[in-house]
Amino acid sequence: MKGKQQKVVTVGFVALGCPKNIVDSERMLAGIGGAGFVISPDVDNADVVVINTCGFIAPAKEEALGAIAQAIEQKQKGSVRKVIVAGCLSQRMGDQLASMKGIDAVVGLAERDNIAAIIRKTLKKSRRQGGMEVYVSDVDSHVADDRGRFLITPAHWAYLRISEGCDRHCSFCTIPAIRGRFRSKPEDMVLAEAEELVANGAVELSIIAQDSNYYGRDLGRKNALCELLKKMEKIGGLDWIRLMYLYPAGVDDELIETIAQSERIVNYVDMPIQHINNDILKAMRRTDRKETTMQLIEKLRAAMPDIVLRTTVIAGFPGETDAQFAELLDFIKWAKFDALGCFPFFAEEGTPAAELPDQIPEEIRNERADTIMRTQQEIAFEKIDALTGKELTCLIDEAGPGDEATGRYYGQAPHIDSICHIKGCKANAGDFVKVKVIAASDYDLVCEYK
Ligand code: SF4
Repeated sequence: MKGKQQKVVTVGFVALGCPKNIVDSERMLAGIGGAGFVISPDVDNADVVVINTCGFIAPAKEEALGAIAQAIEQKQKGSVRKVIVAGCLSQRMGDQLASMKGIDAVVGLAERDNIAAIIRKTLKKSRRQGGMEVYVSDVDSHVADDRGRFLITPAHWAYLRISEGCDRHCSFCTIPAIRGRFRSKPEDMVLAEAEELVANGAVELSIIAQDSNYYGRDLGRKNALCELLKKMEKIGGLDWIRLMYLYPAGVDDELIETIAQSERIVNYVDMPIQHINNDILKAMRRTDRKETTMQLIEKLRAAMPDIVLRTTVIAGFPGETDAQFAELLDFIKWAKFDALGCFPFFAEEGTPAAELPDQIPEEIRNERADTIMRTQQEIAFEKIDALTGKELTCLIDEAGPGDEATGRYYGQAPHIDSICHIKGCKANAGDFVKVKVIAASDYDLVCEYK
């Protein structure tokens, strides 16, 4: 006897935002797939569309609102039944999103793991019942367990989030208001997750958090990040451990020594400095100062001459004078970061910096950001040229076409940095290979397989 055939429900998923949000997306995808829904790549023709948004700065918000508007349009045409908005923007705006008619449910960060139940509940509501359900609650007491993810990244590398929220309160930043106070994940939970990812094929883990080196401080632990790293190093099969988002003031001698002495923690540090002028840093409510940041860079390079440094800066912060901007530019020329991202300042609603006097006109903010990026381009190109002729170990990200492959050496973080194009290479994704750099192609390296 044949059973009654159940109609499958398709869910289209739009994953936006930073690596922290990607981890949330991966957990939601696991919940959705595990509940029997079919995850569809066709977001314009799915029964339900879930958009996991970012609400960090204006462009991210615009991108999220664009994706929501597109889903609502498909709903109006009848090719989508329900639209669910999750993530940072939901947490930040909550029921204010009701003004966008057509959203069926808004899901905050603490409700992430209930996404399948929310989808079911939303599907039960008829079109006539309409209205938007809001599932947003306080995040401060919530520590998410990120094990059991459905990875968006390839199996051979993954993000490992060690904490949630931030206690720093930089005056321009919406994160503490959206993601709450800093909460470390328990160490055994992080280690179990790392082991799970490695067992599933990861050879590289990028450690992420809003402020990675604050790890453990909310629990009264000192040097908890170093202790965690030393335990992670013992996980067999984990070859590269990468540290992202280090707050300069928290990079101490013990952390530098831990990285320098490790075979597995790569000599790569992502350390957003935001600015270098001391008055601007004070207005940003950052605890770093020019002198300490410069000393730190020198110390990192003395301990690891081959260290690759990435940073982020903000151009056109309120009150930034021509002289203060010139000081930032001079510093960038001095520091010679291997990679640098620059955002023009965005006055984010609800942040102290948005209320500061002497806001800089948008045109000047953009112009300053462009100047920084042009300056950095010259530095980056010089550094890339200096690699020509060097032998490197690369992790293959993608095999093909033909006998070409793409990969990265330790100085290239996945998704954000440049890549290596490797000629004459038939290795598979996840393999480590020896290469020789033969040329540069913009920010990328052209290599031959050895
Ligand atoms: S440390 Fe980073 S996440 Fe925390 S408030 Fe400052 S900019 Fe935002």
